[in-house]
Amino acid sequence: MKPSSNNKEILKRSIETLKGIGEKAATSLSKYNLINIYDMIYFLPFRYEVLSHNSESDNGIISGTYESHTYINAKNGKKVLRLLFRSDDGFIAALYLSYTYSYPLPIFKEGKKYNLYGNISSNNGVLSIFHPEIIPDYDINTVRPIYHLPAGLYQSTIRKAVKEALTVGLNEVKETLPNYLLDRYNFPSIQNSLQSIHTPKTSENSKLIMSRKHPSYQRLIYEELFYLNLLLARKRKNYKELEGISFDISKEFLNRIKEIMPFKLTSAQRRVLVEIFNDMHNIRQTNRLIQGDVGSGKTIVAFISAAISVMNGYQSTIIAPTEVLAEQHYNNFVKVFGNDMIKVELITGSKTKKVKEGIKHRLLNNEIDILIGTHALLESDIVFNKLGLVVVDEQHRFGVDQRKKLIEKGSPVPDIVLMTATPIPRTLAMTLYSDLDISIIDEMPPGRIQPITEHYRESDLNKVLDKVKLLLDKKEGAFFVYPLIDESDKIDLKAATQSYEYISKYYKDKKVGLLHGRLKSDEKRSLLDDFRNGVIDVLVSTTVVEVGVDIPHATAMVIEQAERFGLSQLHQLRGRVGRSDLQSYCYLITSKDITPVGRERIKAMVQYNDGFKLAEIDLKLRGQGDLFGTKQSGGVELKYANIVEDVMMLRDANIDAKKYIEAGVDDSVIEERLRVILNGEDSYIGIG
Ligand code: ADP
Ligand code: MG
Repeated sequence: MKPSSNNKEILKRSIETLKGIGEKAATSLSKYNLINIYDMIYFLPFRYEVLSHNSESDNGIISGTYESHTYINAKNGKKVLRLLFRSDDGFIAALYLSYTYSYPLPIFKEGKKYNLYGNISSNNGVLSIFHPEIIPDYDINTVRPIYHLPAGLYQSTIRKAVKEALTVGLNEVKETLPNYLLDRYNFPSIQNSLQSIHTPKTSENSKLIMSRKHPSYQRLIYEELFYLNLLLARKRKNYKELEGISFDISKEFLNRIKEIMPFKLTSAQRRVLVEIFNDMHNIRQTNRLIQGDVGSGKTIVAFISAAISVMNGYQSTIIAPTEVLAEQHYNNFVKVFGNDMIKVELITGSKTKKVKEGIKHRLLNNEIDILIGTHALLESDIVFNKLGLVVVDEQHRFGVDQRKKLIEKGSPVPDIVLMTATPIPRTLAMTLYSDLDISIIDEMPPGRIQPITEHYRESDLNKVLDKVKLLLDKKEGAFFVYPLIDESDKIDLKAATQSYEYISKYYKDKKVGLLHGRLKSDEKRSLLDDFRNGVIDVLVSTTVVEVGVDIPHATAMVIEQAERFGLSQLHQLRGRVGRSDLQSYCYLITSKDITPVGRERIKAMVQYNDGFKLAEIDLKLRGQGDLFGTKQSGGVELKYANIVEDVMMLRDANIDAKKYIEAGVDDSVIEERLRVILNGEDSYIGIG
């Protein structure tokens, strides 16, 4: 047996040591992160071809004896080389469109039998095959892997290279799962799995692999989920040990709250508040995620939680992703609680330096109880006197690091409540966010009527404008939203501006405003205020209105180029209407550029109003997309597993990983694999 340092060396050898891979090929493969032998071994085919006579796919083998060749004239005037073969049931023509004169004629000997592989078609009863590959008898009925390749590289080159990598390196690949787990699930070893995925013995096997059902593939899926859960379980274990603050919640306080509430809380809101109260009362640091559909009333829950912290002599902070939303929270807070009993302050990027200095000073002196704000809150010179609770609104818009920065502003660690309207299915949430407790507000405030959603083509814009006009005539408000992914995008901004002009002309007797990210914040504020107060009837806007904006009398949400928005974004936008007891409408207008997936999204929007349902569909349409996007995952990337499709296995892996951690085994192989998966980073989903 070789010493282990040697093992590593083989796997770490550059792919340039493989035959056929020169400097140029290595450079282009490095763009696929294929650097060394180990990478090559883990570079799995994306599909297979079976070299067979009776193939189910387009390609197949026909065998025949070579007879003669001719040149024929193609329609475009070019000559085509045509080789004639005699088979058991007639003739076969092999056609070469652009050939050099030395190729392929010398290959073929008259009277000799050849197996020709390629795309077979039938021309006037003669089977023809273009540029066939010649297959030796011993390769008939074998399965060949096909790899995703950078341009300029041949499958044959990469096949040879992978084969060589397996020969020299596969024995050095260490098992990554404990034996008892391999046994429990009847998984093959890692070496066997990799070998059979590269070179399945039968076409049945290759089909099973492609449908992800083959044990060799299943073990890769499981392994990935197991490691993901190991990370999470380990994190949770470390996490539980944090000691926080124990808050008291007095009857008196609750009665007071009840008195000042502008509405009666829904039973879902009350249930979630009780869950938060229990957490806050517990000395363990609260770490709770509140999931609730758009408009379910998460804000008030945040406010009451923040007030509890204040009643206990601590400060609170509420962070929101946009200035518009932070301001709205501030205004609403003052509306409900006034500004005497609890001193609340707003900080955003657009506050003057002087105002900021004042806030910082008072914050440090404990003269501010609740600081609401945007990213400006994160700055290191925002120092609290005694921070007790952090609320993160629209938490999916913040990264792990940002949440961490907030938590570090308190000592002992403040409690944390995260809120999101972009839910993920519960089983998934419990696993992925296993370091969080989860509450769900699954009820809308009373009297809400679900918005009616309809899909229109661009050419029907005037129809939509006429429908909206009827609402405007009743003094209801309308949003028109345009995609502006990047606020500096001139073309998109121009489109929004042109539509604004069109709409203004169309609605001659209405007031129309244009809101976009390049406006100064007081311009934005006054536009939104005007819209809220009915001074403006129609607000044409880029996506700055997306999250959280609450303007109850608005009943129409018209989304142009709706195909350019993601499903959760569309749902968020629709959530801007339907916030009162008026019937509201969401009109999705799509352009010709709509893709099939875009169409599916629109269909889902028309069919469903439920954010959880839409989140599920979204996951299916996108795969895991943003769940493991850069912001949330901090390094974990799933290659094989699909957390939607593999949810059962996710559950198994979750239980197994927890037990594994509890058993406290010190397994260096697993530690090493974890490091590989994490790319050296040690932050991942969760609070960080
Ligand atoms: P979201 O969950 O999307 O953040 P909000 O907290 O903004 O929703 O609430 C949406 C609207 O519903 C707001 O106008 C809010 O004042 C109102 N609201 C919240 N809870 C209730 C309730 N229990 N009864 C009536 N209206 C409510
Ligand atoms: Mg909200």
